[in-house]
Amino acid sequence: MTAPILGIDLGTTNSCAALADDTGNVRLIPYRGGEFTVPSIYAIDDKGNELVGYEAKRQWQLNPKRTVHGAKRVIGMRYASEVVQRMRSAVSYEIAAGPDGEALVVLDGKTLKIHEISGKILAKVRDVASANLNVKITRAVVTVPAYFNDRQRQAVYEAGKSIGLEVVRIINEPTAAALAYGARRNVNEMVAVYDLGGGTFDISVISIRDRVFEVKSTGGDVFLGGLDFDDAIIRYVLSDFRAKHDLDLSVDPIAMQRLRDVSERIKIDLSSRSEVPLLIPFVTTNRVGKPLDINMVMRREELETLTLPLVDQTFETCARVIEEAGTTPDKLDQVILVGGQTRMPAIQNRIANFFGRPPSKMVHPDESVAIGAALYAWSLESQSPLKLTLLDVLSMAIGIETAHGTLHKLFERNSAVPNRKAFVFTTHKNNQKDLVMRLYQGDKERARENVLLGEFTFAGLRPGEAGSVRVEVVFDVSLEGTLSLNARDVATGQVMQQSVRFRE
Ligand code: AMP
Repeated sequence: MTAPILGIDLGTTNSCAALADDTGNVRLIPYRGGEFTVPSIYAIDDKGNELVGYEAKRQWQLNPKRTVHGAKRVIGMRYASEVVQRMRSAVSYEIAAGPDGEALVVLDGKTLKIHEISGKILAKVRDVASANLNVKITRAVVTVPAYFNDRQRQAVYEAGKSIGLEVVRIINEPTAAALAYGARRNVNEMVAVYDLGGGTFDISVISIRDRVFEVKSTGGDVFLGGLDFDDAIIRYVLSDFRAKHDLDLSVDPIAMQRLRDVSERIKIDLSSRSEVPLLIPFVTTNRVGKPLDINMVMRREELETLTLPLVDQTFETCARVIEEAGTTPDKLDQVILVGGQTRMPAIQNRIANFFGRPPSKMVHPDESVAIGAALYAWSLESQSPLKLTLLDVLSMAIGIETAHGTLHKLFERNSAVPNRKAFVFTTHKNNQKDLVMRLYQGDKERARENVLLGEFTFAGLRPGEAGSVRVEVVFDVSLEGTLSLNARDVATGQVMQQSVRFRE
């Protein structure tokens, strides 16, 4: 018997795996102590041992420089990008530039590619699942955020490859959540998936009809998530402490780490309680050496006031994305929640107001993505009776750099995938040997402000006068959102050799 295909939610903070049985019942893979998620953390301890998951998380505070968390935020990204630079200032481990300008992690003087770190996390998930199921897992469906560009998706395939795990498909997280909601029932509905996780927010509008899952529009904010809610508490506490003691705690890294941990805990507790004490004993000393504590009480309404601008921002995006889908909030049949931060009651209330109905209780915000991945994985098995069709959209345009440095869009944002377009290019020099094109993904008008997908060179053009040789290039965007190119000489049909560079 060949091993089944595992569904993996490769998360920023936590990862989770699930598997469907022969009847389509999905089981989440338990880790230890009944937990269904494993922290997406990789570390090397002082003896040089590799630690992944809970073991890595446990020693994080003591070994921050060699503990890598949040790798998913920078996978497939260039060192110079805004996300990587922001990440550098937020983490204790070292992020450096690789030979191709990509971001790397340096641990103990050794460089590791980001996809290798994600590979270690995938390996942990796979190994736990293999042990649990007593079968060697070699294939998986892995989910990624809808906004992941081609480079980030390719990096997830690489992550799988680095550990001998075949990533048979990549599917988008919101699509997976919609699958968890509607794949096993005969659902004909238009749903919204509202996903607010640790670091990012996104919203997708998805039509479900006869097991065809068609994303109508998607959008989000890669700099808005639960961490920003924690930050709002941190800023509030810092300013209160300054007012009381005339001291700035933000210059003390240890105090800040303690404050960060406590703030998140307070935030989570305020989802189920109306008032929570915020106590950090001996957080610092005053000018005469007297120990000082943080000792406050935080009320749910205070948290709601502090974080209102963040919540507002998500609903502004919702309004725009729903309009792009050509519908209105009241016409949507269900709202599906994904991500830990959606447990905040203020968010659920706003959803009820905005959409005119409370969010669906059918799917669990932490589990739906892995469940959807498992259902999709099961549908790919030859003996499976479940037949699913996924139709997605590009979350960002893909275009080509023009001679003026602008982006000429080949595929617009929200255009359907899979998709294919062919364009004919003509030589502009006598005996031109190569056709070189730089492809970018993003919505900015200046090409270089977007993400470089690669500089594609088609070599071996037929000699001829400028304008006489015509090359047809076919651009294919797969369902997984990855791009491939093929070129041929229009007159002779000869296929051109292709090479790609990723450097600016
Ligand atoms: P995720 O990326 O989906 O694991 O979401 C993680 C984020 O959800 C973190 O910022 C957590 O602090 C936040 N979170 C988890 N549980 C809760 C809760 N009960 N209330 C509010 N936020 C939560």
